[in-house]
Amino acid sequence: LLLSCTPDSTDLSSCHTSSNGLRSSSVPSDFPLRRLTLDGHFEFEDLSHAARDFGGRYHYLPSAILHPNSVADISATVKLVFELGPSSQLTVAARGHGHSLQGQAQAHKGLVICMESVRSQGMRVHAGKDPFVDTPGGELWINVLHETLKHGLAPRSWTDYLHLTVGGTLSNAGISGQAFLHGPQINNILELDVITGRGDILTCSDKQNSDLFYGVLGGLGQFGIITRARISLGPAAERVKHIPQKENFRRGLKRNIYMTCYTFQVMWIKMLYHEFSTFSRDQEHLMSSGETFDYMEGFVMINRTGLLDNWRSSFSPKDPVRADQFISDGKILYCLEVAKYFDRHEQDVAERGVERLLSELNYIPATLFLSEVSLVEFLDRVHISEMKLREKGLWEIPHPWLNILVPRRKIHGFAEQVFGQIVTDSNNGPILIYPVNQSRWNNETSLVTPDEDVFYIVAFLSSPIPSASTRDSVEHILARNQRIVNYCFRMITGCKQYLPHYSTQEEWRAHFGPKWEVMMRRKLLYDPLAILAPRQRIFQKRR
Ligand code: FAD
Repeated sequence: LLLSCTPDSTDLSSCHTSSNGLRSSSVPSDFPLRRLTLDGHFEFEDLSHAARDFGGRYHYLPSAILHPNSVADISATVKLVFELGPSSQLTVAARGHGHSLQGQAQAHKGLVICMESVRSQGMRVHAGKDPFVDTPGGELWINVLHETLKHGLAPRSWTDYLHLTVGGTLSNAGISGQAFLHGPQINNILELDVITGRGDILTCSDKQNSDLFYGVLGGLGQFGIITRARISLGPAAERVKHIPQKENFRRGLKRNIYMTCYTFQVMWIKMLYHEFSTFSRDQEHLMSSGETFDYMEGFVMINRTGLLDNWRSSFSPKDPVRADQFISDGKILYCLEVAKYFDRHEQDVAERGVERLLSELNYIPATLFLSEVSLVEFLDRVHISEMKLREKGLWEIPHPWLNILVPRRKIHGFAEQVFGQIVTDSNNGPILIYPVNQSRWNNETSLVTPDEDVFYIVAFLSSPIPSASTRDSVEHILARNQRIVNYCFRMITGCKQYLPHYSTQEEWRAHFGPKWEVMMRRKLLYDPLAILAPRQRIFQKRR
């Protein structure tokens, strides 16, 4: 066994930081990577940007950054690192958009590959009976959306935020409000091109190299670097045939007939509940209804009337008079958020369908709020918040986020304890909570979920408030997260972390449970020197 399973002990205290920022590495002139001749190039100076991520708390300075210009560049580089053998310290981290939370796309004294550089292949949409798009691993989902919409198509499963790369989210799962219907993004992939830890380029799917295919999906970057993903698509627009203009028609210019795609509109609806039990019952009801919404999430508001006022202003109340009378008295409220996609010519049908679905729910009647937006506005909604936060200097701050998957049979106890006792206000950011149905998820991937048909995704998306009270500090939020984790993993069984972060082998072993042996086997097969994604801290390169 070349693998050591003990994650190294490097933590924040041993990062290469200095008081005025991160130092550049000084790489000797005989550094092995300098030998390679590539289409792209290496960067050896000013590497600090590769030692940062959205989490903003972990900073590991690499020795070099590769800006590849082709898949062959990546393959040749990984091959060389592999050939250097265990005596070399070098490890390799593919970096997507660097939106990890705990340094997962970094490589301490290693090599970071900037995946966004390899866009030369471009995207190719295949319309037709079973449409799909082939996209580079370093492509952003927002670009995938715009490109596929040109053909009246779009992926079915999303993340809440689209400025993330395809390879980055597929290494985790890619979960959002469509997952109850279509599974996570990793369940909507038809084929991948992957560069293994030996530098080999392999195409894989459920028919070809299927062990690698399922290993890479949700595999935290452990078995290969995704350079191309084939994503399955569904309809996202109505296609309208235009009649030629009169003049052209008179002249017989028939080729003026053309098709136009009108992107679907979205009815975006929010409603409130006092009781968690009614809220979750309605969520589960929608999840199991045959005809249902296209998107469903939910969130918790604890002493947070500000948030309520905020979205009240951008959504119209269904019943303005009663809505005005509704006052949140500082209690916990639960907000169900749903959306229905429709084409303009079938608006009446869509509205009737929505009315019927809403009539089956038990929300507080005065709190039904509606908005109609385009599909792009809806799917890219978090980007609007990003721009507002950037303006206020509140985007590039630490993000001590925590994501937990909770089995359904434990969710009521969880809500009572966590929302009632541990999180006594949610001023630090949204708390998302919504159920998904495991039967729509493919269990063969590396993703680990609770062993129950239905489980809830609970995301504590907290940010500290700069120069505010200690209650809003990073330390306070981290301590609170730790209490939640302790509660989940000591008091109730079956919870799993999503975007997991652990520091001991025992924790990883417990996280993967029965899948641990498979992880070990695949690591030995596809990345025997444990070169790839070192800061996930699952396996350590043998020294
Ligand atoms: P990076 O942070 O760059 O990389 C993540 C990991 O994947 C690293 O280990 C890296 O080495 C590896 N990796 C990167 N590219 C590749 C590749 N091509 N091949 C193999 N491995 C690779 N997640 C959800 O599921 N649902 C959400 O709704 C959601 N919303 C988010 C909103 C925000 C604002 C943020 C910051 C994150 C959100 N996430 C969400 C989490 C997000 O999916 C992960 O953090 C994801 O890893 C980020 O993608 P990235 O391109 O920035 O990846």
